[in-house]
Amino acid sequence: MPDAVTMDKLVSLARRRGFVFPSSEIYGGLGSSYDYGHYGVLMKENVKARWLEAMVRERDDIVALDSSVLLHPRVWEASGHVSGFTDPLVDCRHCKRRFRADHLAELECGVRPSKHPGETELCDLTEPRQFNLMFQTRIGAVEESGMDAYLRPETAQGIFVNFKNVAQIARRKPPFGIAQIGKAFRNEVTPGNFIFRTLEFEQMEMEYFVPPDEAERWYRYWIEERLSWYLRFGIRRENLRVRPHEPDELSHYSSGTSDIEYLFPIGWSELEGIANRGDYDLRAHTEASGTTLEWVDSATGERYVPHVIEPAAGVNRSLLAFLVDAYAEEVVAERPRTVLRLHPEIAPVKVAVLPLIPRNEDMVGRARTLYEELRRVVVAEYDDSGQIGRRYRRQDEIGTPFALTIDEQTLEDETVTIRDRDSLAQERIRISGARAFVLDKLAESWTPPKGD
Ligand code: ATP
Repeated sequence: MPDAVTMDKLVSLARRRGFVFPSSEIYGGLGSSYDYGHYGVLMKENVKARWLEAMVRERDDIVALDSSVLLHPRVWEASGHVSGFTDPLVDCRHCKRRFRADHLAELECGVRPSKHPGETELCDLTEPRQFNLMFQTRIGAVEESGMDAYLRPETAQGIFVNFKNVAQIARRKPPFGIAQIGKAFRNEVTPGNFIFRTLEFEQMEMEYFVPPDEAERWYRYWIEERLSWYLRFGIRRENLRVRPHEPDELSHYSSGTSDIEYLFPIGWSELEGIANRGDYDLRAHTEASGTTLEWVDSATGERYVPHVIEPAAGVNRSLLAFLVDAYAEEVVAERPRTVLRLHPEIAPVKVAVLPLIPRNEDMVGRARTLYEELRRVVVAEYDDSGQIGRRYRRQDEIGTPFALTIDEQTLEDETVTIRDRDSLAQERIRISGARAFVLDKLAESWTPPKGD
């Protein structure tokens, strides 16, 4: 773990710099709901773009999908969510709080936070009751003719019910996959933990359809592939581990699941799950809908129900892991600095352009021209407010890998300084070559610098 990255420090930075705000704050906040500010949005878009590149753009065997949040309610009956997507909950008759029965050892008593629920003489817990995590809503303006529906608790089912459409149109033969990014909703009873677990979140899920006898091989393949994605974008190896589920943890549909876990400030926790779902989903929807979901080879007539390997990741949880891994506090020239050493492809802003003396019109003019040239090709930021040192610190805190400074010398010899966020090295380059220089730098391979 770099330094002592606590959740409190991250929450504070995220808020101070406009990554993440508590939702509905002026009304006192809504538990387990967060809003993303400017840098949070840019960073979230980068996480999703890197996933889509790796899963779809760089491959021939996976296509994209964007299915509805609201699906026919029978989808959730067939998938097993109506009957089985539950958490066991207990209520405390004394403090009136509700707890996950299977997480009591990690939770705080509502009256004495140093104790776990059930540990004090005042605690009066009910028996566990199964509580469905799906948010219910109603479709239709007229109450009597309306239809109960659910906000999707995962994006995967939208993929399964489109299997036939996509398999026909995409002209793909197993193994092939369908990838989707989208919002999911779960009525979680949660102890907080910032954006780790929220009521509303975004998932990045891919269902990979394979011949049954190849399922085990592809399951192993996707564990490695997904692990390498986190490494590729800068998460340190020592903070990642793969944890296979014990047989009694496996979902009803799964013959094998492994979690990629990250060492969050709350301890090792799931970042992504990779499941071997067998043919459970396609068979369940075939039976419930009457539409046969299988693969038929038009040339040979061979037919079978593909097995499914599912890497399911969370956008928000990934973003949190990237932030935790990047966060560092250090002392530079006897002054403390907080820096986010984000991979340049994850960092919300790639380059900042700063005129050294904001009152100097020539410097400001050159800086604005350079900024306008750069923002055509990368996310750039122009800043002429305050001391240069403070402006650097601000860019460090939002993780901007490069800063270009326009100073007196620029006006004489057409050069600018480029400052590297990680090494703090400064180099003079020609202003005419700045755009190419920055693009080359961003394309260079990047590994997390040591020094924590
Ligand atoms: P957990 O055990 O943490 O509840 P899960 O096993 O139920 O997670 P999956 O159904 O496998 O999660 O969902 C895939 C991914 O979606 C998770 O690995 C996580 O990154 C993300 N995710 C799931 N629930 C939430 C949530 N409430 N808030 C934020 N992200 C979530």
